[in-house]
Amino acid sequence: MSRTALLPLAGALEQQTREGELYERYNGTWTRCFACGHRCPIPDGAQGVCKVRFNRAGRLMVPWGYVAGAACDPIEKKPFFHAYPGSAAFSFGMLGCDLHCGYCQNWVTSQALRDADATLRSEPASAEDIVRTAVRLGARAVVSTYNEPLITAEWAVEVFKRARAAGLVTGFVSNGNGTPEVLEYLRPWIDLYKVDLKGFDDRRYRELGGRLQPILDTIAALHQMGTWLELVTLLVPGFNDSEEELRRLTGFVAEVSRDIPWHVTAFHEDYHMTGTGRTTAAMLQRAARLGVEAGLRFVYAGNLPGAVGGLEDTRCPSCSDTLVRRRSFSVLENRLGRDGRCPRCSSAIPGRWA
Ligand code: SF4
Repeated sequence: MSRTALLPLAGALEQQTREGELYERYNGTWTRCFACGHRCPIPDGAQGVCKVRFNRAGRLMVPWGYVAGAACDPIEKKPFFHAYPGSAAFSFGMLGCDLHCGYCQNWVTSQALRDADATLRSEPASAEDIVRTAVRLGARAVVSTYNEPLITAEWAVEVFKRARAAGLVTGFVSNGNGTPEVLEYLRPWIDLYKVDLKGFDDRRYRELGGRLQPILDTIAALHQMGTWLELVTLLVPGFNDSEEELRRLTGFVAEVSRDIPWHVTAFHEDYHMTGTGRTTAAMLQRAARLGVEAGLRFVYAGNLPGAVGGLEDTRCPSCSDTLVRRRSFSVLENRLGRDGRCPRCSSAIPGRWA
């Protein structure tokens, strides 16, 4: 990455864009974006809900050619627990989000276009720069994260094409507010997809700026497409942790597939959501039990390392043998073969292992 500069955000929007592909033009110069479930109709001179895609004279301009955050971490941190355990994932992010969650833990990047406090560095970068850096750092995967990657999907695909050519796998860490069009656009280039399923209450989703149904449709579509999918629910006390809601949520996931890993993770007070208290280990364990009762075969508890009694480990659902032992984002032991089979009973464990 060539140089670092503090760019005024409005200026960055103007300079670091190009015409997008996920839109249609209608009524002369109106555009309709279908990069995310909002499907914004955007007149000339206006921007979409995400504030990073805008209509310039009938052309939808989208973010291009910069990073607002990058880091190389264990792939378990994304979290992907059923994809290349113990490998490194190179994460890159841009600016903006199509939701505005009060408890966002990436708000400095995701809310940068809405919140004057969210000032940060933005650095021009090419897709080749990103992939070259990932390879140099020994990454196995390149992951679009920090902001909502759906709203910058064209740039992600540009990076992913080069990542694939370099032998890397590719992934999204996303809120899952997708559309059939953006999933079809991503399908040839994406291997791994993490969806934040933030609850199972449409009223709550509307408070966050979205709707529940597009997220459920995205989860079902990703599973059907064969993209490796893991789900995360940040358990926020009093917000999404009622037994009734968690039973409906886990019941839905089990209906799509009992093999989708579900991570229930601990909330700490952040951004605008304070005063609710932290999620305790007992709360995580209770939620995990509901997931198991719904029939899910791989349930994990995150953000409280060492305190959740084995819920960081992968067990064989057939013989209960511990296959991958973890503490936080570290793999302590991995007994799975490259074929992803349990060494004791030979059951195939779903995921991407080789
Ligand atoms: S990405 Fe979503 S929020 Fe942004 S312009 Fe497109 S449809 Fe609207």
